[in-house]
Amino acid sequence: MANYDYDYFVIGAGSGGVRSSRIAAGHGAKVGIAESTALGGTCVNIGCVPKKLFAYASDFGPSFDDAKGYGWSMDNVSFDWNTLIENKNKEISRLNGIYEGILERAGVELIRGYARFIDDHTLDIDGKTVTAEKILIATGGKPRRPNYEGAEHAIVSDDAFYLKELPKHVVIEGAGYIAVEFAHIFHGMGAKVTVIYRGDSILRGFDAQISDFLANEMKKQGINIELGTNIIKITDKNDKKYVKTDKNNNIECDLVLSAIGRVPYTQDLRLENANIAYKDNGQIIVNEDYQTNVPNIYAAGDVTDRVNLTPVALAEGHVLADRLFNNQPDRAVSYDNIPTAVFSNPQIGTVGLSEEDARNKYSNIKCFTSDFKPMVHTLSGRDERTFMKVIVDQDTDIVVGVHICGRDAAEMTQALGIAVNCGATKADFDRTIGIHPTSAEEFVTMR
Ligand code: FAD
Ligand code: NDP
Repeated sequence: MANYDYDYFVIGAGSGGVRSSRIAAGHGAKVGIAESTALGGTCVNIGCVPKKLFAYASDFGPSFDDAKGYGWSMDNVSFDWNTLIENKNKEISRLNGIYEGILERAGVELIRGYARFIDDHTLDIDGKTVTAEKILIATGGKPRRPNYEGAEHAIVSDDAFYLKELPKHVVIEGAGYIAVEFAHIFHGMGAKVTVIYRGDSILRGFDAQISDFLANEMKKQGINIELGTNIIKITDKNDKKYVKTDKNNNIECDLVLSAIGRVPYTQDLRLENANIAYKDNGQIIVNEDYQTNVPNIYAAGDVTDRVNLTPVALAEGHVLADRLFNNQPDRAVSYDNIPTAVFSNPQIGTVGLSEEDARNKYSNIKCFTSDFKPMVHTLSGRDERTFMKVIVDQDTDIVVGVHICGRDAAEMTQALGIAVNCGATKADFDRTIGIHPTSAEEFVTMR
């Protein structure tokens, strides 16, 4: 049998890679990991974590006005972008250190550098050659770049975390998770925001009533949403950007953020040296066991472009390590009813099927909805409403979808996700006693 440097070598120390390497080492495997940038990957450095910190910063914006209705008075409230960036950077450095400690304590050998395949058991990491019996590709994704004239004047989400100053007017291209979250981030900090989207309703794939409800809340706040519109050119002149659209607009702004999706990060991995199959967009093709067409090479997380969420990458990396090094072939990730949230204002939380998908899957669907002014805004005077929706398969009474657009939707959805995954029925929801006064009690009182 060949003698390799490692039993398991992981490319990419992001969410999936760190989890998989740590668990495999815990099962006794000799494990190495390569990372070309900062430990923790997209989520920790240029994704979930800094994004959520920015969203918290934005949430304070309207809260100062809300507080007045509760008797508080404040003079000279101001926001300092540099303080936020400095504190955010410190927190990210702290997390990078924590990730280094996790790998060290687990006995995973970290090699800093960019890994490329030499053959199916051999990698080059910036001049260092390593061999491994099994290899995991966990290299994540990168923002998709637009390609119209002047596209180089647009930034992508990676750059948005390191801006020198808060722009006064931001044009955001796209209407997916990142576009909608950054619309909230910049607007809450005081910038004017214009969202330009090619489709007819933001957040395609979400329950249509929820997307439309959020779009309406965003518009009420003053966020401009241009639907059915495409950017065709950006001009950069005297520190201003001019965004030309196919609706014949020429919008002047300070920053264009293009948020038109992400692509798997495999372009420079030299996959062909190991004959690994991938799709045109770079997506590594895997079977149900996360195995590529080359039996000793696996892939997990965003690089497989299936469900691009951190908890999914973590779960995939974990399950793979358990299967390969702890003799647990039956371990599997549950892809049904994955709860997800959009950290907009108000937030969206969703688990299970949208009404559209539920109607396609079941013949007898009933939707229960509630649209109300949350109690906090009775005194604050903020013109914001909450919308909740429960979708039930009437033949079984099972709740097949729960959707929220409102304050703390993400927190509520995590708990509701457990109920939906347990197959809770509408009767189970109804017999649960509410917690009063909360918004969440609506879920047990909808009739
Ligand atoms: P990554 O975390 O991207 O890790 C891949 C790592 O591999 C990177 O560190 C990269 O530098 C390294 N690498 C790549 N190629 C090589 C190579 N050849 N050699 C060495 N190292 C290499 N998900 C959520 O669940 N909730 C959120 O709120 C959320 N917010 C997000 C906000 C933004 C702005 C973005 C961009 C993403 C967000 N996501 C969120 C998605 C989430 O970040 C990803 O799903 C998750 O990070 C995927 O993990 P991964 O392990 O597959 O890849
Ligand atoms: P999304 O796939 O969510 O949205 C992409 C947006 O860009 C859509 O509105 C899409 O339109 C549009 N688009 C795609 N291609 C083009 C094009 N060529 N020209 C113009 N518009 C285009 O991607 P994001 O970049 O927002 O986020 C990437 C992924 O990261 C998410 O899908 C999610 O998995 C993850 N993420 C999760 C978060 C969370 O959990 N809170 C937060 C941020 C990211 P259309 O709908 O018409 O295709």
